[in-house]
Amino acid sequence: MKPAYKNITGTFDILPEASGNENGLVTSTAGWRHVETTIREVMVQFNAREIRTPIIEPTELIARGVGMLTDIVSKEMFAFERGKTHYVLRPEVTAPVMRAYLQHRLDQRGGVQKLYYVGPCFRAERPQRGRYRQFHQFGVEVIGASDAQADAEVIAMMMAVYRAFGLNETSLRINSLGDEKSRPRYKEALRTYLVAFKSDLSDTSLERLSANPLRILDTKDEKERRLLEDAPRLIDFIDDESRAHYNELKTLLDDIGIAYQEDPFLVRGLDYYTRTAFELENTNLGAQSILAGGGRYDLLARELGSKTAVPAVGFAAGFERLFLALAAAEIGLPDDPAPDVFIAALGDEAHRWSFGHSQRLRSAGLSVAFDLKGRSMKAQMREANRQRARYTVIVGKDELDGGVVQVKNMGSGEQCTVGVDDLTAYFYKCIRS
Ligand code: AMP
Repeated sequence: MKPAYKNITGTFDILPEASGNENGLVTSTAGWRHVETTIREVMVQFNAREIRTPIIEPTELIARGVGMLTDIVSKEMFAFERGKTHYVLRPEVTAPVMRAYLQHRLDQRGGVQKLYYVGPCFRAERPQRGRYRQFHQFGVEVIGASDAQADAEVIAMMMAVYRAFGLNETSLRINSLGDEKSRPRYKEALRTYLVAFKSDLSDTSLERLSANPLRILDTKDEKERRLLEDAPRLIDFIDDESRAHYNELKTLLDDIGIAYQEDPFLVRGLDYYTRTAFELENTNLGAQSILAGGGRYDLLARELGSKTAVPAVGFAAGFERLFLALAAAEIGLPDDPAPDVFIAALGDEAHRWSFGHSQRLRSAGLSVAFDLKGRSMKAQMREANRQRARYTVIVGKDELDGGVVQVKNMGSGEQCTVGVDDLTAYFYKCIRS
């Protein structure tokens, strides 16, 4: 039967078991939990603390914080109004985290704030494998430090996450975007260079040529990429301080053995980015291979109304791309744990007993399953097997009359008789010892 309702295209349900949809594999809830737990463990190692911000934010915050000229704001926002308030489903988390930092005066909590987040984001993109309308990000924002060490630390955190999963097929690219004074000079130089090739540019790039020529550097168009090979390079325009910052970052990455490639075309498109920009790519994946990206965004706080500049650097990464990368590298994820005990009961009295007794076993710390449908013993044994239960308790009227049950070790197939009142102690010994 065709269901009356389906989830919205570009979103997906996460089920107890791995599943698939038209846009690829969906990892099981157990897999998600494992990945989230691992990420949190890495964050703890780096002494980052978790921040959770609302899913809905004021539209203006995102428009200013992400930038009016970006695709995210101009084309991909899920925005709506109620009364006079304009809301948006957050497309990313950096602007919300900076909002929270400024709103709660986290600068007064001493030192640098190292905040990590995990949660859903929303962008009205064309759904495809690795690109969804509701997707999930984790990331870190280090706020309050201008030193290149903060940039290196953010990159180290990002790399540590992927390393924790044994994912080594990655390539890190870095660049420096200079500061707010050097960038306009570069933009002009790039524009002047590209104007001469106007007839070779796509409509999108022509639009960007006047609005923000830096974004043309992102182009995937082969012809445009060839054109860019001889274009002026951002790195030749950056100010001395930015250059020193960049050199220091490279030295720090070398010191801790993080390999990188310098990519003069790497820009993150947003005006509030300064100095460091980086991206992590999975060398095993074709399309949607960018696992994570980030950079320094010293100008964002002012954009959001702060009177003082607040230096900050961070990365954002996608869960779905991480899952794709893990699958491509054939790195498995754990399943839900199997129940310790499955109670297979025959007859009304035994069913009632199993319902009551399962609670006692659970109070003793065991995980217990039983049949809620009153099926045949054979069907219940099949279910115990399917659920990979470690032990099955077999109970019927005769057993209860005799004050005993049968216990089957599902691994070895051994079966023994255990007194009803001894059951908790028996399992405690078997399972917890
Ligand atoms: P961005 O905020 O665009 O730099 O994205 C950071 C990371 O989030 C990307 O590298 C992806 O891993 C992930 N990501 C961004 N947009 C999507 C999307 N529509 N679907 C799935 N993952 C996404």
